[in-house]
This record gives sequence, C-alpha cells and structure tokens, in this order.
Amino acid sequence: MEKIGKFGKNADLAKTIGLDTHATEYWNLTPAELIEDSIILGEGVLTDTGALAIETGQFTGRSPKDRFIVRDEKTENAVWWGDINIGFDPTKFDALYEKMKAYVKDSEFYVRDVYACADESFRMNIRVITEQPWSNLFAYNMFLRPLDEEIENFNPEWNIFCVPSFEANPEEDGTRQSNFAILNFTKKMILIGGTGYTGEIKKGIFSALNFILPHEKNVLSMHCSANVGEAGDTAIFFGLSGTGKTTLSSDPNRRLIGDDEHGWSENTVFNFEGGCYAKTIDLTREKEPQIYDAIKFGALLENIGFIEESSTPDYTDGSMTENTRVSYPIHHIDNIMVPSKAGAPKNIFFLTADAFGVLPPISRLTNEQAMYHFMSGYTAKVAGTEVGITEPTTTFSAGFGAAFLPLHPAKYAKLLGEKLQGTEIKVWLINTGWSGGSYGVGQRMKLSYTRSMITAALEGNLDSVAFEKLPVFDLLYPTSCAGVPSELLNPRATWSDKQAYDETANNLAGKFVKNFEKFATETSPEILAAAPKVLA
Ligand code: ATP
Ligand code: MN
Repeated sequence: MEKIGKFGKNADLAKTIGLDTHATEYWNLTPAELIEDSIILGEGVLTDTGALAIETGQFTGRSPKDRFIVRDEKTENAVWWGDINIGFDPTKFDALYEKMKAYVKDSEFYVRDVYACADESFRMNIRVITEQPWSNLFAYNMFLRPLDEEIENFNPEWNIFCVPSFEANPEEDGTRQSNFAILNFTKKMILIGGTGYTGEIKKGIFSALNFILPHEKNVLSMHCSANVGEAGDTAIFFGLSGTGKTTLSSDPNRRLIGDDEHGWSENTVFNFEGGCYAKTIDLTREKEPQIYDAIKFGALLENIGFIEESSTPDYTDGSMTENTRVSYPIHHIDNIMVPSKAGAPKNIFFLTADAFGVLPPISRLTNEQAMYHFMSGYTAKVAGTEVGITEPTTTFSAGFGAAFLPLHPAKYAKLLGEKLQGTEIKVWLINTGWSGGSYGVGQRMKLSYTRSMITAALEGNLDSVAFEKLPVFDLLYPTSCAGVPSELLNPRATWSDKQAYDETANNLAGKFVKNFEKFATETSPEILAAAPKVLA
C-alpha cells in the first residue's frame, strides 16, 4: 500500500480502524488535485467559472428510510427510536464493515482529515474516507479544515467510510435495500454505501452532533443558519429544506456564521461546518449574488444541466433533479465571521414555506407560540412540479429537522425554552411561501420582500409599528414594513376569495392540532394554549 499526499503520524488506517488495503491511498489532497483526478477519471467537468460539476448517480437526495443508528448500550435508552431513528444490530454492523473492507481491498481511495464545530471546546475530529475524489472535495468544502501543522498530530475521533459502489444485500446485511447510511456511536463510525449523494456525509455528522451535544454537553444543536450584524447582534434562521436558511442568511450587510448547522452553548452560537451547501435550481445572480459568485474554482456542483454545447451551467435545468446543489468553503462568501461563531441570538426566525398561503409573511411570536411552533416544525411543500398537481402537502418536523434528531424532540425544545426564558430574544415566524392564495392560485412571496421584512425586524424597525392579530392562528403581524406593500402583510387580505381563505386556514389549523396530539402529555398548558383555534 502506497500513501500519497499530506499526512501525519496517525495516518495508519490499519491501526486506527482496521482498514488494510493493497492500493494507493491519497491523503489530504489539495482541491486542485482532487478536481484534476475527478476530471481524469471522467467523473466531472469544469464549468465556465471554474467550478467542478459532477453527477452523484442514482441518488440525488438523501434517503431517510435507509439511515440507521446502531442500537447498543450507548444508544438504547437515549435515542428516540421509530420511523426516523431506525435501529441497527451491532453485530450486523460489524459484519457489514468487514464486507466493505474486503470489497475495497484492491481499490484506491481518498482520505481527508477535517473537523466539526468552530468552537474549540466542542471540536470533533473526523476522518473521511471516500471512494471518489469529488466526495473528498465535498468533505473539504463542508467541514472545517485543519491547518497544515495540525495534520501532523491529527487524531481522528470519528471516521466516515463512504463507498457508493458497494451495494448491501438486505437479507444478509440487515439493511432495507442496497443503499445505507449507518451511525455507530460506540465505534464512532459512519458507514455509507450504495449512494453517492454527498449530503449523507454532511447530515451523518450533523445527526451525530445532534446526539452528542444535547445529550452529553448540554448544548442545543440546531438545524438553522446564522449571521451577525455590525453591532454584534446574532440572528438564527430555523427551517426545513427549501424554506430559505441558506438564501436568507447570505446578506451582504451581515457576516455569515453558517448556512445549516449550529450549536448554542452557554453564550455562543457556533457553526458545526466550514462550508455551505446551496440549492442552485433557478439560481440567478440578480436574486442571489453572493451564492452565484461563490460558484468558482473549488466549488462542487451536483447534478446540474448545461446550456447546449457550452460549459455554462443551466440552473433552470431540473431534469436530473430539482435538488441541484453546490458546495463551497465558507470563505467563498465575502462577508463572513472568522472563526464561525458569535454571541447568543437577539433574533430568531422560524422559516416556513407555507404553500397554503395562510400564514402571514412575518409575525412576532410569544415565547409560548415559539415553543409550539418549534415543536410543530411546519412547512408545506408543493406536491410536485408536474402540471395539474395543485394540492400542497403539509410537513411537520419537530425542531425543524426531525430527520436529523436522534433524541426525543422535547429534549431540544426544553433546551430552547430555557434559553428563551427571561430574555429579550425576539422570535419571528416568516412565511417564505405563498401569498394571495394557495399554490396554483397565489404566488410565492418575492424574495426581495422577505429580505426587507427580515431587515426591518433585525434593525428594530418593527418595534414602533402597529400590529394586528390574525384570527385562528392568533399571530401578531405588523401592519407596515419598509420595502413591502402593506397589503401583503395580512394574508387574508391578499386572497380575493375570503371564504376560501377562512376554510383553508381552518383546515391547516386542524392539521397543526392533530400533529401536536403526540406531544400533549409532555407539554405545559401554556404551550398547548398557543395552538391555533380550530373553528367548528
Ligand atoms: P436546505 O436545508 O435543503 O439546505 P434551505 O432552508 O437552506 O434548505 P434554501 O437553499 O435557502 O433552503 O432554498 C430556498 C429556495 O427558495 C431558494 O432556491 C430561493 O431562491 C427560493 N425562494 C423563493 N422565494 C423565496 C423567499 N421569499 N424567501 C426565501 N427563499 C425563496
Ligand atoms: Mn441550506
């Protein structure tokens, strides 16, 4: 076995994780080297701005049903088992790992030493071992990068072993199908096989931190983006996929802390990651200049199309997937916080893309409402992009990220509640979704309007305006906001058919109440009282 690249004295996979192969190992290659290898292997091409464009293969998104957690002494009584956190037998894990090792015995692979958590007290060293050079570039882009001198003594705490071409045999291996992502908290290892979707690597570590930080270190881990203003005022933006975390946290007037995963310790909000993972569908320079300009040499584009006979990306092309993406190291954005941490938030935004067009584009929540909406984690997606499908579907995902939360949602809510109590932190609910009617009738709120509303909230300009209360949801919304037509602020007023609005609102309220039933026993009466009032 030959080792090429940059590595320290603990760069012995046979010793650290029992992985002994006969082919070349490429250690901590530079982005340029990884990009070159991807192109030589025929796995990627350069775009006209120098980004590498690759295809992830059969999987262009995560596969939540194939994400498992090894069920053993460490996790048995701590993890909230169910459809989201699916248990995996420890002996099956060992057997599968043996099989994977045998499978790669004669293959070359790429090794990368990185870490998570920008706050030194919580730093987690990670070694990512990948079959493809571009998945290794993804790890470089998304995690925090150690200094050259840190590589010398780098000691990995967690290991990720990512072999997309390895397919499991469900009957023998205990998986659901051929692809899998399995977390083992005892061995501190993540096995990924049968899928080349890079997001599994990033969300694997996120899930691990969502267990370790709240459970062992009393730190609230959050599926949110974060930025900080001139005055040092931190803002965080919670939201499910597609609600605007990445888009809205990129703000030329505020320094970016991170776009997706953060921890909130005693007095600090810190990024887990060292890069961003932005959607590129319908991306334009005009609407999202910071993200657009970050797509340069070093950035990794996934599953995009090209303008015919050119190397110019066609961001409108969703033929491979709607989930086209780009990853880039955070320093591709101009205005960033270094290191990626700041003080406790002054403003918290809950983002929802309400495809029913019921919720106000901005409203201010009481602490009880904040807890209620945090536990609910509502968004509504459009059913599909095919013609004729007009029915939006509700998603309730506790903590705005249940898919990545190994513990019971009440655990995260409790930590958030403690942090809000007795403070002046303002919590806002932002509807980045529909207005003037549900999907099919109304339109999505203009990004420039949403940006103006957030700016107004951040600058304290909504403190002096009059608020009105939306019936059913009891949400307080401002009646004026600079840069936004006032008639858009009351959702009911934007619907031409008021009766249709009332019916849709009442229907949605019913879905909130029904979803919350499962939390009734562990929720205080004050929080339960913040539920929407369904009319008979
Ligand atoms: P993920 O968790 O999957 O990374 P995300 O919360 O970061 O999702 P974004 O990548 O920010 O979501 O996606 C929001 C998408 O919605 C972008 O493509 C953005 O251009 C589009 N969009 C349209 N209108 C708005 C709006 N009013 N506010 C925010 N985003 C909007
Ligand atoms: Mn994002």
